[in-house]
Amino acid sequence: MAASQHAIHISLQLCQAQLFDCRSTVDRLSNSIAARRMAPKGRKRSSMPEATNDTLRYLSQCGTRTGLSNALVHLSDAGWLRPNVMQGLQSGARRKLSRAMSDHANVSTPYGTVIQQMRLPLIKLPLWDYAHPLALLYHLATISTAFGDLMAESVVPGVPMRVVIYIDEICPGNPLRPDKARTLQAIYWCLADWPQWVLQRTAAWPCFGTIRSSIVKDLPGGVAQLMKRILNVFWPPTGDSFMNGVTIFVRSMPILVTGIFAGFLADEKAHKELTGTKGASGSKICITCNNVFNRVKESALVAGTVCIACCDPGLFQYNTNASTYEAYDHIAANHHDSDLQQCLGLKSDPNGLLHDAHIRTIYKPVDHTLRDWQHTIVGGGVANVECARVLAALSDHGISLDVVTMFLLQFKLPKVHGKVEPGWLATKRRGKKWKSLQSFSSTLLSLIPIMAMFLLEVIDEPAHPLFDHMQCFWRLRMIVGILQLGPSNAMQHVQRLRQLIREHAELFTTLYAGHEKPKFHHLFHIVDNMVFLGKLLSCFVTERKHRTTKRCALFVFRCIESVVIKDMISRQCEQIRSESESIFAETYMVRSKPYNIAGSIIHRALGAVLPCGSLHAGDFVWLNTNVVALVISFWSAERAKNISSQVETYTRLNDRATQWRTESNTIFVGSECVVSALIYSRTDESTLFVIPAASSYL
Ligand SMILES: [Zn+2]
Repeated sequence: MAASQHAIHISLQLCQAQLFDCRSTVDRLSNSIAARRMAPKGRKRSSMPEATNDTLRYLSQCGTRTGLSNALVHLSDAGWLRPNVMQGLQSGARRKLSRAMSDHANVSTPYGTVIQQMRLPLIKLPLWDYAHPLALLYHLATISTAFGDLMAESVVPGVPMRVVIYIDEICPGNPLRPDKARTLQAIYWCLADWPQWVLQRTAAWPCFGTIRSSIVKDLPGGVAQLMKRILNVFWPPTGDSFMNGVTIFVRSMPILVTGIFAGFLADEKAHKELTGTKGASGSKICITCNNVFNRVKESALVAGTVCIACCDPGLFQYNTNASTYEAYDHIAANHHDSDLQQCLGLKSDPNGLLHDAHIRTIYKPVDHTLRDWQHTIVGGGVANVECARVLAALSDHGISLDVVTMFLLQFKLPKVHGKVEPGWLATKRRGKKWKSLQSFSSTLLSLIPIMAMFLLEVIDEPAHPLFDHMQCFWRLRMIVGILQLGPSNAMQHVQRLRQLIREHAELFTTLYAGHEKPKFHHLFHIVDNMVFLGKLLSCFVTERKHRTTKRCALFVFRCIESVVIKDMISRQCEQIRSESESIFAETYMVRSKPYNIAGSIIHRALGAVLPCGSLHAGDFVWLNTNVVALVISFWSAERAKNISSQVETYTRLNDRATQWRTESNTIFVGSECVVSALIYSRTDESTLFVIPAASSYL
């Protein structure tokens, strides 16, 4: 049934639902009371289930396995646990905890076991446990029909899927720990051909492995050498390879999945380590351009070269993959010439990715450097600098930060984004020199639209001295707004994005000269990466996945690599097996309740995940009819399909579409009609001030 028809269907049934609502509540209460009266005393105690693997996996995150098993035994001896709690653990709580953490690791597939070992030339870690990608894909398709269906829908016969590998450093436990003994390199991967909503779910990204940074440091070539070995697992010169493909079985039908490498998604530091470039600290900061220099005086720049503040992409001279390899070969042949390395921005490394003949058949250094917009813009990036500079300009103009903070505090965020905090603009965050505003990426995503609205409200005419600041910040808000649309939806705005980035850069260099960082230049290449990959990937999803990795590593002090990857894979397999309805569905309802309406079951929920993201009752949303509405609840005959939102629409009061009045007009709309959740402020009972969705300005 189409979503709009479904909305009408739901609308007609709502009145009945409200009538039945009272009756079903009374029925449930009476049933519950009757059940309690009938239940024999002590029955609950005797029917208590044994500890399941899910429980054991959860327990393993609360302490070391030895500590937990000792605690359970002592609690049992003290009589604090019911006798049958320990029944399932009598033969060794520690062993059962370990088994629960690794019950998918040793599963056999035609491509070997899911967890395999890689030999490393290190005394500290001679064998590294990792999850073999082909074996894992085969196993996931075996245990989950939903995952198999996803693969079947994503595969185009004869066209290889595109594998993106992500690497980042994480620190489980105390982040302020002075040494790096427990810092881990976490490696995840995904198939860029998966649909947008799957690419945005942490459970879908498989973990390849984790390894201590201190160990990677001992490896000749460091992260580049590690990644060379990882690429050799995906695409070895001989044997099972993504190039030849993995045959998975979906509903008993064989499907061949082949794959090619499509890029590294990483932050600036990891890209530097992978490509063997000099990075942000060098004079050549970009592997894509051969004429962009940093830390070089403008007077020293020769004709045809530009500095990182250049905002005309037409002046960038692009490297090709072939020219980069050519430059590297020249450096390798003259590896004692440090000036040459500095001039070309590459380091000679016999253990690096660029040096290996087989890796050259897989890896394209220019195309495969995928910049992540989270780190480039809101994670210590362009937006952090621009927020601090705009606040400085406001302060110089006599508008104190207290006024801006008061404006911020009027607003409420969509429930999933938390609350506006008074300390967002605190002095300690922007520093005395107003160089950069330290902030979480998620905070900046909420802060940018509110600050843009503040500037728009305060600076209302072109003659205002801060008019250009407003124009620049407004473009930043639009850039972020487009990027937030997601991996696939942002693709339709590539041209607009390219134009906005250029206009923003021109204003930025005029207003904040000297504050351009290497990320200012990398922002131009985000669009290039989008065009190459056909998707916009960001590190938001992988950074969320780090929470799971950190929990797995928190109480592990021996064989951390082996224990963490086994635990990660077991958790992912179990999650995909049991929660496939929510992981692979584009839309689903959260904690829905069934209602029997005239013989047919209909589900209602106060929360749902729609194409625009998570929504809750009480959130205000922007509809594709350019109308603001209040979410009342979500209805559907199936929990994960054809979800209709019951909303109360508002009437527009001004041209800017910021002021709206309630009319108490309740309608039902399909999930595709909801564009985004809104940041809003209630001016009085019936009037609302909202910040319109970025897409409404496109
Ligand atoms: Zn460049």
